[in-house]
Amino acid sequence: MIKMTFQLPEKFAQIPRYQLLYSHPSPIHPLKSLAPPPGHHPNHPKISIFAKREDQSSPLACSGNKYRKLEYIVPDILSDVPKYGYHEHHPPGEKIFPSADRQPCSSQKAQSKATTLALVLLHCGTGGGLRTASDKGSFLRTGNVQINRLLGADVQVFEEGDPVADDAHPVLERLRGQGEIPYWIPGGASLHPLGGLGYARAAAEIAEQEQTLQLEGSGRFDVIFVACGSGSTHGGLIAGFKMLDKMGGSTAPRKLMGILNSPTKPRVYHEERVLTFARRAGAFIGLEEDNIGKEDVWLEDGFVGTGYGILDEHTSLALERMAQMEGVILDPVYTAKVASAMMYWVQEKGVTEYAEEHGLKHVNVLFIHTGGQAALGAYADRL
Ligand SMILES: *Cc1c(COP(=O)(O)O)cnc(C)c1O
Repeated sequence: MIKMTFQLPEKFAQIPRYQLLYSHPSPIHPLKSLAPPPGHHPNHPKISIFAKREDQSSPLACSGNKYRKLEYIVPDILSDVPKYGYHEHHPPGEKIFPSADRQPCSSQKAQSKATTLALVLLHCGTGGGLRTASDKGSFLRTGNVQINRLLGADVQVFEEGDPVADDAHPVLERLRGQGEIPYWIPGGASLHPLGGLGYARAAAEIAEQEQTLQLEGSGRFDVIFVACGSGSTHGGLIAGFKMLDKMGGSTAPRKLMGILNSPTKPRVYHEERVLTFARRAGAFIGLEEDNIGKEDVWLEDGFVGTGYGILDEHTSLALERMAQMEGVILDPVYTAKVASAMMYWVQEKGVTEYAEEHGLKHVNVLFIHTGGQAALGAYADRL
């Protein structure tokens, strides 16, 4: 296995990290069947497609992008005086959990799988996975819920309209009343100040892998597709790639496309959040605020479908295609929408246009597989 040899800048390397991933990078491999055959169009560039398997980055249950984020959060949880476990509505910096006995508390899905003694708050109103399930009882017992329970988490389900969806203070207060010391991790850990660092580091890992893969064309991944849900995976990558561009003397930046998976909020809402997360991560790793701007945030909202967690026709097609052509299993909520967008960009014009703009005869495309397959079981009635 290839060990990581890349050097993070001093300031970044000093940030405490608790290893949850393997010590080798998550694999990157070609998606040969999905790539258009050479000469598919005389005037078009050659397109190579690769997948980065974040679903194979960690030995822990249902590996996926949340573990990478947690690597930078766990040291705070384990420290004597955690700095960042306040609820998102607490003023930043307020220290309220100084003690040894602690109970990590997580609001959502995947990142909760990585914490022990976790309390998982699930909101029935979030998205349409539950709403569109033909057997709601089964939806609430299978998929991520089943895995969370197996891992010993206490899963609490809140009905649609429950104020806890917007403000979990009462839950935290109750825990404190019971003598527990909760550590709050917001959904996707994106509002957590350290939430973007894992993917800033992943950018350096990808750059390192570009070297060993000996890519054709520009020698690196020109267009990268990644899911954008709560936003810190995308934001962290932006910060990391910016750091690399600055270190290496900037060439044309890689085009990092965040693929939105929910139509609930408009694209500008996500753009602002991603920019905030990118700058926040950037500040920790030695960038200045004005190093990252709006022009660095590329978001595609054409593949959101009809709702968060709803498996529309395009999404299931992409999921099936990836399974049947490449033997790669995606998840119904995030990565299938990313794959759908990527296939469109490869087949229709986006990737070709990028090549023309940059004078490339060969384009390397990277699809980041962020995991999530554990949710599939809850979609058995629809897939
Ligand atoms: C959480 C999650 C995402 C989205 O990551 P964000 O940082 O919240 O944008 C993508 N894919 C999977 C499988 C996830 O669980």
